[in-house]
Amino acid sequence: MIKLPEDVSQAPSLEIAADRLGQILGLQKPAPLDATQRALDNPLYARALLTARKMPAVLWQLLVAPETVNIAPLAGIERKPPPASNLQIMAKAAAATLKWGAEGLKHAEPWVIERRLAACSRCEFQTEAPDTLIYRGAKVVVGKDAKICEQCDCLTNTKAALAIEHCPAKDLANPELSRWQEPWVDTAKLSKWPWR
Ligand code: SF4
Repeated sequence: MIKLPEDVSQAPSLEIAADRLGQILGLQKPAPLDATQRALDNPLYARALLTARKMPAVLWQLLVAPETVNIAPLAGIERKPPPASNLQIMAKAAAATLKWGAEGLKHAEPWVIERRLAACSRCEFQTEAPDTLIYRGAKVVVGKDAKICEQCDCLTNTKAALAIEHCPAKDLANPELSRWQEPWVDTAKLSKWPWR
């Protein structure tokens, strides 16, 4: 059975575990802390992540939107029903996944997304996504013309669609606002996504 290597599961801190998990997954940077914690708490999710190592698009989706991925086949539990004793664990894991998705991945309102994307399209920091492993996977999911924000390395169309996201750059005319015309927050203090 695939499981997290001990240097990840027994790492002295979440940050070190994230660093090691990122290396194992070929992310070229630490895995997101949320995903690392989830992998440590949920063996099915960890197994799905490890199985998806060679499938960049699926891996990326597992990291940023796990509620959209059916982890059962990736975790190898589709053909063989789990023992009854595991059902509770699975139900708990599924509930945790749903809760995480509901709290962390709410979509922004369509008019907000439109306003944000319009700002990105005028912004000098928006550029073509580089041809690296994680962005290659992302392009499969969000389209080959995927663009990134050079300020945070986020995919702009994905970033703009998430309610909790923030534009990291201040508006030139009003430093209280971001370039999305929303209250500016210090995104350097946030660390939720794999591309930050
Ligand atoms: S998120 Fe902000 S800084 Fe980044 S490309 Fe969009 S407008 Fe520019």
